[in-house]
Amino acid sequence: MNAIKSRLNLLDFDEAGLRDFFVSIGEKPFRAQQILKWIYHHAVTDFEAMTDLGIALRQKLDLIAEIKLPQILREQRSVDGTVKWLIGFHGGNAVETVYIPEPKRGTLCVSSQVGCALNCSFCSTGAQGFARNLGTAEIIGQVWLAAQALGHERNGQRKITNVVMMGMGEPLLNFDAVVPALSLMRNDLGFGFAAKRVTVSTAGLVPGIYRLRDTIDVALAVSLHSPLDEVRTELVPLNRKYPIAELLQACRDYVSDKHKRTVTFEYTLLNDVNDHPEQARKLVKLLRTVPGKLNLIPFNPFPGTRYRCSTQERIDRFQEIVMQGGLIATVRKTRGGDIDAACGQLVGKVQDRTKRSARIKLRMAEITS
Ligand code: SAH
Repeated sequence: MNAIKSRLNLLDFDEAGLRDFFVSIGEKPFRAQQILKWIYHHAVTDFEAMTDLGIALRQKLDLIAEIKLPQILREQRSVDGTVKWLIGFHGGNAVETVYIPEPKRGTLCVSSQVGCALNCSFCSTGAQGFARNLGTAEIIGQVWLAAQALGHERNGQRKITNVVMMGMGEPLLNFDAVVPALSLMRNDLGFGFAAKRVTVSTAGLVPGIYRLRDTIDVALAVSLHSPLDEVRTELVPLNRKYPIAELLQACRDYVSDKHKRTVTFEYTLLNDVNDHPEQARKLVKLLRTVPGKLNLIPFNPFPGTRYRCSTQERIDRFQEIVMQGGLIATVRKTRGGDIDAACGQLVGKVQDRTKRSARIKLRMAEITS
């Protein structure tokens, strides 16, 4: 038997998983807390250096476990401070992770899948096909690597203050790997981010929204893109299965419990497709019934797309109408354009996306139909 192959990667476990792991090897569950601090507070990945674990336990861990991070294949820094990493995984796949600094916060945009199976017509990730889900280690590893690469501010403050699952992939279609990663982001023994600072963005997987609500406290973002089912189905084919009324009901239910959450609606503005004043007015009517805010995203074109970005005039008019209607609406600034780090521009390396991708798309279609 190949000992290396069977080693467990401890980055795949959240605190509950680590407690179970230690119990399963005849150790005390509190070892989980110790090891979490080493990994996420001290950035130590070598058992040898974990001095409070005792030599016998360290040797045992060396035999059966490992702490294996993905690899930074490339780092690009934009003139505006945005940083983009190409992060590679075992087997040749890679995703992109982006850091966006703003005056009062620093947001890390994390990927959940290699490629995406949902095929939204205006998204370049969709155009690349789907290779596979990322594992928990590969998701939390992006945060770990970015935090290390960025270091701290001079005053000791962390550079990353927020994490958004808005990179490549549909996080709610990779629920079982995403949730432990979210739990490590939230846990004080991990990265310790507050619930409102960890956002899961979904194209509208309704059952996933309910499951998320019942599992972990994080912020929700929903990619809406149109108040009209006909238009939304053209942009987000998943809308056929979960049309707008059902999706908004799930959003209302998400925010209705004790956590007092709000939903962020993402709306990518596509010239002459979803940026008409009538759609803005319809949107006002729809979103009045859901506590949340609207994030307007100017479309970022990519090679081969049939869409164009709305003109500044149309963007301004759209924002004016929704704001007059009483919605809170911001226009997302395009960042990192010089290094192709803007929304919908993340590419990574999606391997094996011919037959396998078609097969998985079929399976995804079954799951979502
Ligand atoms: N699958 C999830 C997570 C991806 S988030 C979701 O759909 O929410 C990526 C966000 O960027 C989504 O709101 C998506 O609709 C938007 N987006 C995708 N391609 C874009 C593009 N070319 N220009 C602007 N926004 C885009």
